[in-house]
Order: sequence, then C-alpha cells, then structure tokens
Amino acid sequence: MATYSPLPISFTHGEGVWLWDEQGRKYLDALSGIAVCGLGHAHPKLSEALAAQASRLLHVSNIYHIPEQEALGQQLCALADMDKVFFCNSGAEANEASIKLARLYGHQRGYEIPKIIVMENSFHGRTLATLSATGNPKVQAGFEPLVEGFIRVPFKNLSAIKEVAESHADIAAVLLEPIQGEGGVNAADDEYLKNLRQLCDEHGWLMMLDEVQTGAGRTGKWFAFQHTDIQPDVMNLAKGLGNGIPIGACLARGEAAEIFAPGKHGSTFGGNPFASVAAKTVLDIIEDENLLGNAARQGEYLLNGFRENLGDLNGIVDIRGKGLMIGIELDRPCAELVKQALETEDILINVTAGKVVRLLPPLVLDHSQADEIISRVSRLILNFLNEN
Ligand SMILES: *Cc1c(COP(=O)(O)O)cnc(C)c1O
Repeated sequence: MATYSPLPISFTHGEGVWLWDEQGRKYLDALSGIAVCGLGHAHPKLSEALAAQASRLLHVSNIYHIPEQEALGQQLCALADMDKVFFCNSGAEANEASIKLARLYGHQRGYEIPKIIVMENSFHGRTLATLSATGNPKVQAGFEPLVEGFIRVPFKNLSAIKEVAESHADIAAVLLEPIQGEGGVNAADDEYLKNLRQLCDEHGWLMMLDEVQTGAGRTGKWFAFQHTDIQPDVMNLAKGLGNGIPIGACLARGEAAEIFAPGKHGSTFGGNPFASVAAKTVLDIIEDENLLGNAARQGEYLLNGFRENLGDLNGIVDIRGKGLMIGIELDRPCAELVKQALETEDILINVTAGKVVRLLPPLVLDHSQADEIISRVSRLILNFLNEN
C-alpha cells in the first residue's frame, strides 16, 4: 500500500557505513535506517551470531521460558538500572505497552479516566494510541476519533505541566522523548528533566521516557537519560536495539515493574530467541568495541566540523545534537536535500520537521568517515543555500 513514496534507488548490500546500489555505486550511510543499524551493515560478529541462532531455534512462544530473552532482559535491566522488561517488536509497540501500563497504574490509584501528559512536536508511533500521543497533527489527520486520555503541553515548559497538575487529579504518567527525534532533534535540558522527575515524585506520576530513537548508544551513553542525574520509571526502546532485527522493549522500575499481571498484555513474536540473541549481541558488540565513547567523540567532531563550515552562514539557524544524533536547522524548507544528497554527494541523510537536516550515522563511524560526512553535507547545504 502507498504508505511511503520511496526514492528511485535500492541497495543490494552494505559493509560498515557503506551501501551499494543495484548499479554498483557506493554510498555513505549517515542515516543507519533511521537510527537502527548502529553497528553499520553486515557486522561480521552479528552476522555470525544470527546465522548460528537461525540454524538452532527461531521461535517457540512466550508460553515457555526463553533463556535467550531472560539473558537479554537481565543485561538491559543492569545497563538501565531498571527491574523488569516487556519485549515486543517495534517502537510503537513499546510505547503502546507503556500507555497500557500507565492506564492500569491509574486505575489502581482509583482514577476513572487516567490521563497521560504528552508533548507538542513529539513522535511516539503509528498505532492508534501512539499516534494519539504524538504531537503532530499530520500523523493524526484522518484517524479520528483519537484515543482519549492524553493532555498535551509544550515541550520543555515546566510551568505548563504544573498548571495541568493543578487542574487534574487523575494524571498517571508523563511520556516524553529526552531528545525529540522526528520533531527536529530537540533536547530537553538537564534542569527540565530533573525538575520533571521531582514533579513526578511529588504527584505519584510515572516518568516514562520514549528512548526508541535515543537509546542503545545513539547519544554516546547507553540511554539518553544517563546524561542527566535522573532515573525514569518506564523506558521504551526499539530502533537501534536489534540493528535491523525487529525488537522493542518496555522497561520498568519499582512499582511500575509490578503492574502487568499474566493476561494483561502480550505479543506472539516479542522477545523470541532469534530477536533476543540479535539484541544481546548488539549490546555485547557496543560494549566490546567501546562504541559509546566512539559515538560521543565522533558526534563532537561532527558538530565542530559543521559549526566551522556552516556556523556563520545566514541560512543556518542552529547546529545541535548529542552523540551521533545531529540536527542542522535551516531557515527554509529543505526536504529536497534528501534526494540531492544521493544524487550529488552519494550520501544518505534525512530531513525532519521540514527544515532540519538530520544525521544518524552508525556508531562504528571512524574519523575519516566523519570527515567525509562533514565535507559532503557541508557542500550540499552550501550549494542549496546559494541556489534557494
Ligand atoms: C521511530 C520512533 C517510534 C516508532 O517506532 P516504530 O518502530 O516505527 O514503531 C516511536 N518513538 C520514537 C521516539 C521514534 O523515533
């Protein structure tokens, strides 16, 4: 069905940060399938682990114990300082799980219609509940009636949340991205997150972080919240967790970890042996190859390079990011840059929120490849600003 309008190009294979198209032309991948392939393409250790698991066992059912899933769950909980995990297959599903969890939590507290505070410009997925939570009218248009129970506030505005708290006694949770991805690479600052954490504690709200895009090492820490001295009650992962094998996770801590009882939620595929081995291997490789440190270093290097090349230009509004999640905001719409980048610079990039060039290169990026990204994308933007 016509849910996408794909560019006229397809790729046959990849290696690290490189992709080849059907004509044998080589491209630099500065997008990683939208923050998915953190290890780049065809990482030999991951390929080997997947091949071995594929010839051993793909799927049984969550009716049985799955040791591979339990091992992954323990590792994730240790890395995130969380207590329990529910495994699913996508970011939307992970958020959906957290929304159901928040509703159960609210009902346990005696709220008839529990509310979840959500943000403007957020993105949480395409299922009915997650598109209702999403702060983008384009995602919602045509799908009314939306799921109710969400209260929307401006992002990074604490007093707006305090106002909502004064007029509503039935709030169960706050759901937000620590750095809004689709919304244009907008980070919440430390103060805001700390104050929000405190507000959640005061009111008994669950602090639920959508780290579907920012998690699994993307920002130079395992999870973006670890840049700040806070701990969420619930955190959702997907994208980079499986490096392309579909897997999502909803992690919870303390009281929030005890809410789902048998029969309250489920997934046929979620956390099957194959997906669990994929994600566990991804985490092991990130650790073994020091990819968190690398993402932080290369991210700084990219930001500095872009600030040097583009920082003083009139058409540039802002250059920002954390780790390998980078946004270059222009003063004009620039969606056509995605196609131009392929045609003139042989590089995969993305434009989000209309005016923000978004880069999400693989975490395995090295210095010379970072230099390539800086020169190709700077040239692309310079030409675009000169001609538009
Ligand atoms: C991509 C994304 C989602 C949706 O993930 P899917 O796997 O496409 O369902 C949800 N939240 C955030 C922050 C995302 O970036």
